[in-house]
Amino acid sequence: METIVRKTDKNQIDTEVIREAGEILRNGGLVAFPTETVYGLGADALKEEAAKKTYEAKGRPSDNPLIVHIADYEDLKKIAVNIPAETDALAAHFWPGPLTMIFEKSDIVPYGTTGGLDTIAVRMPSDPIAAEVIRAAGGFVSAPSANTSGRPSPTTAQHVLEDLNGRIDMVIDGGSVDIGLESTILDMTVDPPMILRPGAITSDMFEEVIGPVSVDETILGSESEKAPKAPGMKYRHYAPKAKLIIVEGDLRDEILAIRQIAYAAHREGKPVGIIATDETLPFYKYGIVKNIGTRENEKTIARNLYRVLREFDEEAVDAIYSESFAMQGIGKAIMNRLEKAAGHLRVSAAAIVKEQRYRRIIFVSSTDSAQGPMAAELLRNEELEQEYVIDSRGMVVLFPEPANQKAEAIMKSAGMTLEDHSSRQFDDENLQNDVLVLAISDAIKNKILTEYKKAENVYTLNEFAGDSTEIPDPYGKPLTAYGECYEVLKALVRKVAEKLNVLAEGEE
Ligand code: AMP
Ligand code: MG
Repeated sequence: METIVRKTDKNQIDTEVIREAGEILRNGGLVAFPTETVYGLGADALKEEAAKKTYEAKGRPSDNPLIVHIADYEDLKKIAVNIPAETDALAAHFWPGPLTMIFEKSDIVPYGTTGGLDTIAVRMPSDPIAAEVIRAAGGFVSAPSANTSGRPSPTTAQHVLEDLNGRIDMVIDGGSVDIGLESTILDMTVDPPMILRPGAITSDMFEEVIGPVSVDETILGSESEKAPKAPGMKYRHYAPKAKLIIVEGDLRDEILAIRQIAYAAHREGKPVGIIATDETLPFYKYGIVKNIGTRENEKTIARNLYRVLREFDEEAVDAIYSESFAMQGIGKAIMNRLEKAAGHLRVSAAAIVKEQRYRRIIFVSSTDSAQGPMAAELLRNEELEQEYVIDSRGMVVLFPEPANQKAEAIMKSAGMTLEDHSSRQFDDENLQNDVLVLAISDAIKNKILTEYKKAENVYTLNEFAGDSTEIPDPYGKPLTAYGECYEVLKALVRKVAEKLNVLAEGEE
């Protein structure tokens, strides 16, 4: 089957596209369309046959019921019975919007649509394209997410085509979705109503309207042996091709743990994927890092989650490590989807973070233009068993300057570079419990010790390396002097690396 793709803008809907979609749906066909949550795969909800086609196209287990979408509130009474009194208030607040409510079904709804259940899930989406499609189709459109079962849900028409091209009649491309995660599911057949799937509408928001609601305890507890109440929640879902592992702990530990894993994987030549945020991105140097959004606004994370998971399918990674997110507001829904995508694989950051005597190494010279940056670059090129942030500082740096050109020429001839270097002033921020400070000369070490009261872990390079070979100062001399300096630094730095590796072994 050839899948027709039609574009339309939700602010200026093309009525011809809607008419075409309506006709296909009325004839029992399948049309994917945007909603504010994710793209849905629409079918006529009152036709047994159409439900069957939906399950086939998605490869979805047929005991996993579909959500029926309506465009007008009055239509609810045609497909649901014994609708509880609170429904009006909930609908007034949250419909149209990302809320699905479960009721007893009426006789006109076929069991194919409800996966054999006597209850029906109903939602009234707010996306205007969705509303128009539903009306054009006759008012009742079942629409699960328009992906292959088990894959991340689609948030663009392109995602739909990746999974379903050739398997469905039509896709309406209405651009990117707004929320990016599926609706909150609230079971109205129990008292108080129970959240079966977390989403953009949270328990606090329900509470303000109808008082406390309960929450299906299986939603996040991966330890739970019980079956979730929404049949679809029992399957592994939203999964990228690579193994996804959630790293849990406080954010600092999560970053350190992921850095260690990424560094070890890098040394084995097998990069890992990393899911990071605006705030944590700069901390990752190894691995394939993708930014999922900002922790300041978790809605951005919700919106990007499935796209990022899909993008990792294009990368040569076997494992993806994700930071975790606060369980507040939409954070609960984000963690719920991540946990499902990970098949509940998670690790404790604190258990991974290794004791490490030093996390950062700073070489200090007088102007931070030659010896210091050369030593730092040499150490970065050593085989180190643990990961360190390695850089250099100067005792008198008035303004940032690139590295000395002769130093750069020598490094270049050895296959390294100081291209990215810019000189920086040493300050007391550089004196920390886990920072190793290596001064290029006795004079510089003494200067640090006299200028800063709390000078910890300060050694000369010779001292730490256990080798007293004098480091020549090439400043103002010809290139050969820089070459001689390079050779001495190289031998000393190798000894520093060996010592660090011995320290690392003692601490594993
Ligand atoms: P999707 O359409 O992909 O968003 O998935 C629909 C979700 O709604 C699945 O997790 C279903 O198990 C759930 N669902 C649909 N109908 C019912 C129902 N009658 N009772 C409980 N859960 C339902
Ligand atoms: Mg789905």
